[in-house]
Amino acid sequence: MLRRAGSSLRHFLVERKSSAGYSLCSREAKMSRPVQARRLEGIDKNVWVEFVKLAATYSKVNLGQGFPDFPAPDFLQEALKRALSEGTHMLHQYTRAFGHPPLVKVLAQIFEKVLGRELDPMTNVMVTVGAYQALFCCFQAFVDEGDEVVVIEPFFDCYEPMVKMAGGTSVFVPLRPKAPKDGKLMSSADWQLDPAELASKFSERTKAIVLNSPNNPLGKVFSRGELELIAELCVKHDVLCISDEVYEWLVYDGKEHIRIASLPGMWDRTVTIGSAGKTFSATGWKVGWTVGPDRLLQHVRTVHQNSVYHCATIAQEAVAQGFQRELTLYGKPESYFVQLPKTLQQKRDLLIQILVAVGIKPIVPEGTYFLVADISEFKSDVPEVPNSDEPYDCRFTKWMMKNKGLAAIPLSTFYSEAHKNNYPNFIRFCFAKEEATLKAANDILQKWKKEKTSS
Ligand code: PMP
Ligand code: GLN
Repeated sequence: MLRRAGSSLRHFLVERKSSAGYSLCSREAKMSRPVQARRLEGIDKNVWVEFVKLAATYSKVNLGQGFPDFPAPDFLQEALKRALSEGTHMLHQYTRAFGHPPLVKVLAQIFEKVLGRELDPMTNVMVTVGAYQALFCCFQAFVDEGDEVVVIEPFFDCYEPMVKMAGGTSVFVPLRPKAPKDGKLMSSADWQLDPAELASKFSERTKAIVLNSPNNPLGKVFSRGELELIAELCVKHDVLCISDEVYEWLVYDGKEHIRIASLPGMWDRTVTIGSAGKTFSATGWKVGWTVGPDRLLQHVRTVHQNSVYHCATIAQEAVAQGFQRELTLYGKPESYFVQLPKTLQQKRDLLIQILVAVGIKPIVPEGTYFLVADISEFKSDVPEVPNSDEPYDCRFTKWMMKNKGLAAIPLSTFYSEAHKNNYPNFIRFCFAKEEATLKAANDILQKWKKEKTSS
C-alpha cells in the first residue's frame, strides 16, 4: 500500500516535471508568488530585535531594553515554587482560556478598588500573554480598514505596526516640550499636549485613541486635567480608549496615577491594559491583562480565542498569589506596590546625579523606569552624517554601545517615520537596575568625559 502510494507520488512528480518544466522535488522549485501580505509592508524591522542583539554583542552595561536586572520579589518566586511543588499537577495543564480563575478573581478585586466599581472577573477581566498580546487583541478587535487611531507621540513603538496590521491608520499628535524654569532640570510634566492640536486629530474616521500613562519613554504621568481633555474628546466623538497602563504602580514624588476608565463617561469605552512583568519585576513571565466592559472585552476574547487562546497556567497561578498578597497589604508600607516605586525613585535619582555630573541633561521622569536625556555634550565624538537615512540618536546609541560598552535606546524609536529626526540628541536609559549596574554606567561616562576633556 505504502509502496503503491510512493510510486504514484513519483509518477505524479515526473508528470509535473514534464508538463511544467520543473521538478517539485528539486531544490530550484522556487515559489514565484509574493508571500508578504500588504499589511506587513514596512514593519519588518523591529528596534528591540536589533538593539537587544547589539547590546548582547557589545554592551558591558545595559540600560537599553526595559527590564530589571534585580530579582523578582521573594514572595513571587516562592509562589512559583509552591505552585510547582505543592500545587495540583493540573497546574501543568490548560486552564480557562480567558484567564486562570484565581487570577481573574484577584485582578477583579484589585481593579474594583482602584476603579471604584464592581467587576465581574469572568467578563470584565481577560488574561493575556503580556501587555503586548493585550494590545494586539485590542487593535485586532476594534480597528478596521479605514479606521484612524490617535497615537500620542512619543509612543511605545508597537502601537503603529499593530494599527497597520489591523488595517487602520495611526494619526499622531505630539507631546510638546516647554522650556523648564531657569536652572531647573526639565521634567516629563513639561511635555504637554496642545488641546487644539489634539482636538484637530479627531474626526468621524477616528475609532480609538491609545493612551499610555505613565508614558514610555518620557515617564510622563498624565494629569487629571489632561485626562479629562482626552475623555471629553472621546465622549464627543464616540471614540474608544485603549489605555496602556503597564507602569501603573511606578510613579514617583507622591504623584498619583489616575486611570482614565475611572473618569465620567469613560468606563464604557475604555480597555485598560496591565502587565505582571512591570508590576512584579518579572518581564520574562509574560502575563498581562485587559480590564473593561463586557461589551468591549467580548471582542477582545474573540481575537484571543482564535489566536493565542491560552496563557501559561503556572505563571498565572503564581501571579494570582502575588496579587493576593498585595490585596492583603493594599496601601500598607510593606506592599510591593509601595516598596518598588520607592526603590526605583532612588535609582532614578542616582542616574540623574550620574548624568548631570558628566553634562548629560536628563528629563526627570514622574513615572516608569525610563529616563530620556540630552546627550549633546557628547556629540562631538559621533559626527553627523548629512542626509543619512538613520536618525542621529540611532547612530549615536550604536556608536556608544560599540565603543563605550553602554547600551541605551534612541528616542527616535518612539516616533513615527515623519518625526524621527525631531529630537536627534535624546536617548532613553532604563534605571530598573542594581546600584552596581548604575555605578558601572557612571564609570563608563566619567572615563569618557575625562578622555574628551584631555583630548
Ligand atoms: N506597553 C508598554 C508601554 C511597554 O513599555 C511594554 C514593554 N513591556 C509593553 C506594553 C509590553 O508589556 P509586556 O512585557 O507585558 O508584554
Ligand atoms: N517595554 C520594554 C521597553 O520599552 C521592552 C520592549 C520590548 O522588549 N519590546 O524597553
